[in-house]
Amino acid sequence: MNDHLTIADARTEILQRIDTASKTAGVTTPTLIAVSKVQPDNRIQAGLDAGLTVFGENRVQDAQTRWGETFASYRNTLELHLIGPLQTNKAKDAVALFDVIHTLDREKLAKALLNAADAVGRMPRVFIQVNLGEEDQKAGVAPDNLPAFLDRLRSEYKLEPEGLMCIPPINEPAAPHFWRLEKMAKISGLKGLSMGMSADFETAIPFGATHVRVGSALFGARDYT
Ligand SMILES: *Cc1c(COP(=O)(O)O)cnc(C)c1O
Repeated sequence: MNDHLTIADARTEILQRIDTASKTAGVTTPTLIAVSKVQPDNRIQAGLDAGLTVFGENRVQDAQTRWGETFASYRNTLELHLIGPLQTNKAKDAVALFDVIHTLDREKLAKALLNAADAVGRMPRVFIQVNLGEEDQKAGVAPDNLPAFLDRLRSEYKLEPEGLMCIPPINEPAAPHFWRLEKMAKISGLKGLSMGMSADFETAIPFGATHVRVGSALFGARDYT
C-alpha cells in the first residue's frame, strides 16, 4: 500500500471526525497531535507531505534523532510534544527539543525542567499527567495528590501548567475517566486537557479535550519488532 495516499486519507478522515464530534458537542475543536513514536521514516515523510504539523513522541532520544537529524529541516514549522515519561537526566534535552511536555508528575522533574529552561533559554508548555486508574505501571500524579502538587508548582516554582493529561486504564470505559479529568481541570483552574487516542478521541472531545493524541489510526499499526 502507498503510505502517502493512506496517511493523507487517514488525516483527512480523522480531522473530519474531530470536526464533527466538536460541532455535535458544541465545543472548541481540539488540536490533533500526530503520535509518530516508533513509526518508520517513510510514514513520517508522508504525514509531513500531507500537512501534519503537530507531532507527539514518547522517547527523548528517538525524538532527537528524528526531529533533530532526519527531519531537522522541518523543525521550525512544527510543534513537538513529549507524551512519554521523562527522566530528570533527560530534562535538558527535552526542554531544548519539545514545545510541550505532557508528563510532568513530580516535583523533582519540575525543578529539573526549570533548571534546564534557565540553561537552554526556553521553557516548554507543560501538562500534568494524572494517573486516574492509580495503575502501578503508569506514570502520573495520583488524583488525591493533584491539588497539593499544583499548589507546590504555583507557589514554590511559579510554574503554571497548561492543563492535565491522562491515559485511562486500557480495559475500562474511557468516558468516566475523561469526565473526571475535566472536573479536576475545572476545579484546578486549568484549561488544557490532553486526552483521547486512536480508539477513543471522539469520546474525549465532548468532555473538552483540547489535545487528542492519535497514532495508529493515522500512521498504521506500530511495529515494535
Ligand atoms: C502511543 C500513545 C498514543 C497514541 O496511541 P494510538 O492508540 O496509537 O493512537 C497516545 N498517547 C500516548 C501517551 C501514547 O503513548
